[in-house]
Amino acid sequence: MGSHLSIQLAVIGGGAAGFMGAITAAERGVRSVLIFEATQKTLEKVRISGGGRCNITNACWDPTELAPNYPRGEIALRGSFSRFATGDAVSWFENKGLNLIEEEDGRIFPKSNSSQEVIDVLSKSAQKAGVKCFTQMAVTKIDYVKQKGFILRFRDKRLITAQTVLIATGGNPSGHKLAVSLGHSLIKPNPSLFSLKLKSPWLESCAGISVKNASLKLLLDKKEFKQKGTILVTHKGLSGPSILRLTSFAARNLYSQNYKGDLYINWVNENNESIRNYLKDFRQTFANNTIKNNYPFKMIPKRLWVIFLNRVSIDPSNRWSSLSTNDEIKLSEILGNNHNIVNGKGPFGEEFVTAGGIKLNQVNFKSMESRICRGLYFAGEVLDIDGITGGFNFQHCWTSAWIAGHAIASEARNKN
Ligand SMILES: Cc1cc2nc3c(=O)[nH]c(=O)nc-3n(C[C@H](O)[C@H](O)[C@H](O)COP(=O)(O)OP(=O)(O)OC[C@H]3O[C@@H](n4cnc5c(N)ncnc54)[C@H](O)[C@@H]3O)c2cc1C
Repeated sequence: MGSHLSIQLAVIGGGAAGFMGAITAAERGVRSVLIFEATQKTLEKVRISGGGRCNITNACWDPTELAPNYPRGEIALRGSFSRFATGDAVSWFENKGLNLIEEEDGRIFPKSNSSQEVIDVLSKSAQKAGVKCFTQMAVTKIDYVKQKGFILRFRDKRLITAQTVLIATGGNPSGHKLAVSLGHSLIKPNPSLFSLKLKSPWLESCAGISVKNASLKLLLDKKEFKQKGTILVTHKGLSGPSILRLTSFAARNLYSQNYKGDLYINWVNENNESIRNYLKDFRQTFANNTIKNNYPFKMIPKRLWVIFLNRVSIDPSNRWSSLSTNDEIKLSEILGNNHNIVNGKGPFGEEFVTAGGIKLNQVNFKSMESRICRGLYFAGEVLDIDGITGGFNFQHCWTSAWIAGHAIASEARNKN
């Protein structure tokens, strides 16, 4: 590469969004599209994603049902998804030769279960479209000069002039810094999609147990967050799909409360009255059975049931006939309204993202162009958009970058 090159499109960041944006623009006629990647390898997050399998999207086909899966960005994404949603991403990849498979829970993976295949498809498509990719090229500064365009400065002091720039730097602070230097403001980044640490040592002996269809209510300084689904007991607290959804929607409040709050678990997803009715029925129907061995809530594994009994001082080897009204009240409380103190953030699940990023009102979502700096575009996680677990984060990358690539190409055509 020469010492001072002039190009049509500079894409900063060789991740999912950078590649999709570069390929889309180049396929639609933008000449001299260059991707600049700071590290030694492009598409590194794609490689490690989904436990090495890359959950590229989700079988949530209806754009109006898709948008609510984004705790930050839902409203802005409604319009974007009407143009490029999950079905379009699936067709895009399949047309480029990637065979996909949908799992029971809606997550979509490459049929080979290997993220390398996604990397290969993106890399080959980029090459075929004439996109050039440069690694170990960290952009450290961008200046906008009227009539000339954007002057990009690299860590090794090289300079490049580009008519158009797409910032696709993910959650990396250096990308945020570049955007801020061009007049944009930032919603402070904080993590999303993590498990919760609880101050409930009694739960630790149940590590590994999962309970389906539990209801969760998280209280954080008077703000309430609710979720329903599978929870997994871990050595330090709780994880599983519904906890990850909960921490995603509550990410900002958890952060501001220093990950302290109150979690109420309804383990059996029944109201207090029906829990007490179940217990009464059992006391009458199975009076001679031991409480430990025969109990009404089959979704609760026996190990956890016995712990609940011990917690409320009921001897598990007692018979149902011995259950007092007071026992019944205590048992229904722990089953249906189990209070736990949240005292920290646990590890991430298979996927994690940054909540926060470039303020959405500074971007025109019809083109992904900045409203502050013409010719500058954004795509992917660099924006204040993040989804719940299940392929939604990559879907946002495909959508925003496809729209940006399209808009950059039409703008280039209009100029020529
Ligand atoms: C372990 C893990 C597993 C995940 N699994 C899934 C999954 O299965 N499904 C899903 O939907 N989501 C998943 N995610 C989230 C998903 O990976 C991200 O949302 C997505 O990769 C964001 O893509 P991006 O292109 O916006 O940013 P990134 O993938 O982060 O790419 C940005 C690139 O820009 C480069 N860069 C940054 N600053 C500069 C600079 N100044 N100059 C040049 N280059 C720069 C970075 O090095 C990086 O390569 C996972 C995340 C993690 C961490």
